[in-house]
Amino acid sequence: MIMAFFFLLGGCLASFSLWLAQTYVNGTSYFRARSHCPQCGKALCAYDMIPVFSYLALKGKCRHCQKPIPLLYLATEVLCGLFATAIYSSFGLHAQTFLLLALLFLLFTVSLVDYYITILPDCMLLPAFLVFPPLFIACGLITTSEALTGFLVALGSSAGLRAAFYLLRKKEGLGMGDVKLFALAGALCGWQLLPLLFFLSASLALLVVAGLHVTGKVDSRALWRYRIPFGPFIAASTLGVILLRQIGAYALFLF
Ligand SMILES: [Zn+2]
Repeated sequence: MIMAFFFLLGGCLASFSLWLAQTYVNGTSYFRARSHCPQCGKALCAYDMIPVFSYLALKGKCRHCQKPIPLLYLATEVLCGLFATAIYSSFGLHAQTFLLLALLFLLFTVSLVDYYITILPDCMLLPAFLVFPPLFIACGLITTSEALTGFLVALGSSAGLRAAFYLLRKKEGLGMGDVKLFALAGALCGWQLLPLLFFLSASLALLVVAGLHVTGKVDSRALWRYRIPFGPFIAASTLGVILLRQIGAYALFLF
């Protein structure tokens, strides 16, 4: 029962993330914007916004214009619901759980903005540096020295990688936003888990690019020039690493 509650809570966070990301991308006022159909622009009623269930009840179509609602909505709600359930299963009913749900919300929102316009917005990322690392330390999720070294090592290595790519290929491989997100992830995971974090982010991104290639969305000639937003993969890996550390399963990767 409580698992179902956390799944729904995650789904609600996802809906709110989607709304916030779209409001940011479209540049509308946060106070005026309401959730609306992306096709016909009609406002949604409260019972159309129940995560996952509304999508299934409406068979993925808008109540007003009958046009399909993007699958991204369902995928975001399910994924966020699963992450919220996993956080509850690993941490139980604890202050840490609610802190991680707040982090989940932030990471989903910046990932969605990155997906839409390949920008990780500073106005969301920079305040997170002031909020999350101190709260992680206060909740006992990480020590001050781990957070500080994690931040510095992540910032140094990702900035180094960015510079090296730029020198070799004469174009941007890793964006400045990705470097900042890596630095935040480093401050929350500690330097010891950074290799795992880099490995997971790169593997997830490669898997998705390979998937796009196999399904014919990108042809092989365009594959090397194809740019995917890297933010969502760093975000998913950060949550993954924090969960693995909690259940002690990261040892599986230390072969
Ligand atoms: Zn519509």
